[in-house]
Amino acid sequence: MPVTSKAELYRKLPSVDELLQSRELAAIISSEGQAAVTDAARAVLARLRAEIAAAQLDSSDVDLALSTISSAIERQVRQSLSYSLRGVINATGVILHTNLGRAPLAAAALEHIRDTAAGYSNLEFDVETGGRGKRDVHVDRLFRKLLNQKFAGEGARATPDISTVVVNNNAAAVLLALNTLAEAGEVIVSRGELVEIGGSFRIPDVMSKSHSVLREVGTTNRTRIADYERAINENTRLLLRVHRSNFEITGFTEQPAIGELATLARKRNVPLMEDLGSGSLFDLRSVGVDSEPGVLDSLRAGVDVVSYSGDKLLGGPQAGMLSGRSDLIARMRSNSLFRALRVDKLTYAALEATLLADVKQDHEAVPALRMMRMSKGEIGKRAEAVAEKVSSSRLRAEVIDGESVIGGGAAPSAVLPTRLLAVTCEGLSAEEISARLRASDPAIVARVEEGRVLLDLRTVFPEQDRVVTGSLEKLAG
Ligand SMILES: *Cc1c(COP(=O)(O)O)cnc(C)c1O
Repeated sequence: MPVTSKAELYRKLPSVDELLQSRELAAIISSEGQAAVTDAARAVLARLRAEIAAAQLDSSDVDLALSTISSAIERQVRQSLSYSLRGVINATGVILHTNLGRAPLAAAALEHIRDTAAGYSNLEFDVETGGRGKRDVHVDRLFRKLLNQKFAGEGARATPDISTVVVNNNAAAVLLALNTLAEAGEVIVSRGELVEIGGSFRIPDVMSKSHSVLREVGTTNRTRIADYERAINENTRLLLRVHRSNFEITGFTEQPAIGELATLARKRNVPLMEDLGSGSLFDLRSVGVDSEPGVLDSLRAGVDVVSYSGDKLLGGPQAGMLSGRSDLIARMRSNSLFRALRVDKLTYAALEATLLADVKQDHEAVPALRMMRMSKGEIGKRAEAVAEKVSSSRLRAEVIDGESVIGGGAAPSAVLPTRLLAVTCEGLSAEEISARLRASDPAIVARVEEGRVLLDLRTVFPEQDRVVTGSLEKLAG
């Protein structure tokens, strides 16, 4: 076969204009627009030129590529116009998985987002008076119901007035609180609580960004109330307790009870703040987890301000809450940083719907709470049904005991007993199986442990069991 020169091969390529005039592309131009198709045609031609330059194509390869160039352009258009952010199936059993978007929202939250976001709303408008309103009121009333009323219901001493402010996430809440309460002053923190939460949230760094000064006390494993007491001086603005969200210290350890810290804070007239991180408004003891303090537990123990996330144990949208003494919360609200950290109407809508479910104690309506409450028996039944359908001579699916993880900064020991689907397939390693599951549409994310792929249906929505079954069947096929 005569060798065709690269110059001749390049000459075979049509121009972008010629391609756009072709009849084959008329339909996609009319549905997706000239601009997108032009970009795609350029990209496909550039790819061919690069392959010719690298001497990867001979004359017949180029002819073949040109005979199917319209469909290559169409594929390119569809790919570039498809969403990058898309749903996946979470079969990891980690309920609040930060990499998978944490809490799935309740149906009522989605509806409320759609209704308020598609048109105008009373976000900052008082419909009764016609005057300007505050965006906080929509959720503050519900936080008050959830926190003040329950507080009073416990027959506690003088009921404090608890109010709540909402910002972009818990990191923002901590920044706002430190800057408001302790700018240019000292904040006392135990050395055992100088945590890093995923990537760039480190207590000492946030402290310096807030222009407050970190005053470390105690040691990594043991800090006593006397350590705090000795460190208090005329520059002390705040005592800070930080939840050890992603690690535990065991062995020879000591940490004052939160109540002791509250007593000290009262005596020395310094506010006490707790960064709870996860912070539940729902009693986790009802699902068998008693290692995790709720927002009410902290407030009842005498903490002045609690910070927590909206998309962790609350099961709502990404947000950060500061709940506590209303005089302190009012100061946060009037800090100019608040304007930069505040949330959008979509967040308020999702939060309001999530909190309403809490007020009604409708825990089944909030997916994260529903998943926590799901029994091992129920999960086991679903796993058995999938196993029965997919088991074949090549694919082995076994249902075994295991643990689901609450995640999202709840104590690492906050686990729930579950039944797992353990999958092995002849001729495929666990990594290969897991890669194939990720390549299915929608992607299925599973755990790999000890050479087996483990799927936990606790975090898979029951209507997705069918998709999981289909993907597993394909593996063995
Ligand atoms: C998760 C967490 C944060 C950060 O919260 P985001 O909502 O992710 O910003 C801060 N502190 C603690 C203790 C946490 O667990």
